[in-house]
Amino acid sequence: MDHVDIGIIGGGVHGASAAFHLGDRGVSTVVFERGDVAGGPTGRSSAVCRAYYTNPFLARVARESLDLLDRFAEVTGGHDAGYHRTGGLFIHGPEDIEEVRRTARDLTAIGTITDALSVDELADRFPAFDLTGVGIGGWEQGAGYADPVLTTQGLMARARDTGVEVRRNTEVVRLEHRGGRGTIVHLGDGTSVDVDRLLIAAGPWSGPLAAQVGAELPLTAERHVVATYGWGPAPRIEHVFADIVQGYYAKPERSDHFIVGPLTPSPTIDDPDAIDDRLLDEESEELATKVIRRLPGLEEIEPRGGWASLYDVSPDWQPVIGEIADGVFIDAGTSGHGFKLAPGLGRYVADLVLGDPDPGLEQFGPERFTTGAGLASGWGDARILG
Ligand SMILES: Cc1cc2nc3c(=O)[nH]c(=O)nc-3n(C[C@H](O)[C@H](O)[C@H](O)COP(=O)(O)OP(=O)(O)OC[C@H]3O[C@@H](n4cnc5c(N)ncnc54)[C@H](O)[C@@H]3O)c2cc1C
Repeated sequence: MDHVDIGIIGGGVHGASAAFHLGDRGVSTVVFERGDVAGGPTGRSSAVCRAYYTNPFLARVARESLDLLDRFAEVTGGHDAGYHRTGGLFIHGPEDIEEVRRTARDLTAIGTITDALSVDELADRFPAFDLTGVGIGGWEQGAGYADPVLTTQGLMARARDTGVEVRRNTEVVRLEHRGGRGTIVHLGDGTSVDVDRLLIAAGPWSGPLAAQVGAELPLTAERHVVATYGWGPAPRIEHVFADIVQGYYAKPERSDHFIVGPLTPSPTIDDPDAIDDRLLDEESEELATKVIRRLPGLEEIEPRGGWASLYDVSPDWQPVIGEIADGVFIDAGTSGHGFKLAPGLGRYVADLVLGDPDPGLEQFGPERFTTGAGLASGWGDARILG
């Protein structure tokens, strides 16, 4: 049986980032991915990147991610994350006025330049927007979007260059936890690997894996859609935006279309392997109606289809990160906002797995759900904004 210092289950952006950050640390590491790198929800992500967070630790981590994405080619040995800084507009109702002002001040103080804009200022700077129901806006200068597949593949390729072994098409079928003596990872091909430390970063499939080492985590899965539209004759909106009043976000693509997805929760689904990954016509129409209400000039947008994928959701919509059994760690429950966190967060997860956790990570431990210390997240129903 092979032996490695660290095993990682999952080749999504979180597993890839942990592998990337472990690559130079002098430990042997192997990633087990049952399909392809970024072949799960990561590859279906809208990959909007912002540091507009109310949780101070996540605001810092997101900022570090954006900085890493800026230097992606340099830090990955020439790979491209498809990253574009467009600026990001966050449209709030009047109930958020004080909190948006405070958040903008706090973010700007840590270097994430963010303006709180009154309705008059919004009307001046964003004349295409109908501001019905709006009380205030947040404008984050440095927000944007990346390509989720290129980003994940780039991180994983760099991890490989620095010695990490990546086993694609390799399913973990059983975990045999041996107390303080590591874990035997049993694979679909009948072989096993003995790992000293194990990181579960398996997205919506993390809960059942954690249960095999004795940790019952309250993680659920939700189906969420992304709808795409051609701009039609209307002038394009060149920046990402989130309409918290109506509950959707939108992102321009470099070509001639843009994408839209919901900001609000969906019903929990039972089996993550059995979702309908098609966008339904009524889902596309509902999102288009909201967009056109906010941007009347877009009334001739052309529906171009879309897709559905999975969020792995925790009870407070914040990530679940910590040690769940001796030498077994979890990084999951990213609740639909984990793409942009991953590049920066991977460094903290790597430190955690190596036994040197940053105190800022403590709040994300799964024990918060049993002690009632759930975290605040986002704005009203839009908890996805973290
Ligand atoms: C439609 C959609 C839009 C999104 N938009 C955004 C956004 O705009 N901005 C943002 O920040 N976030 C967004 N997210 C969220 C973000 O994409 C996720 O938080 C992130 O991709 C989760 O990455 P992950 O690596 O934790 O999990 P995943 O991508 O789920 O990867 C887990 C991997 O584990 C593998 N695996 C599972 N079980 C096993 C096993 N037994 N053995 C081996 N491998 C296994 C799977 O095959 C999978 O590849 C969006 C998500 C979706 C679905």
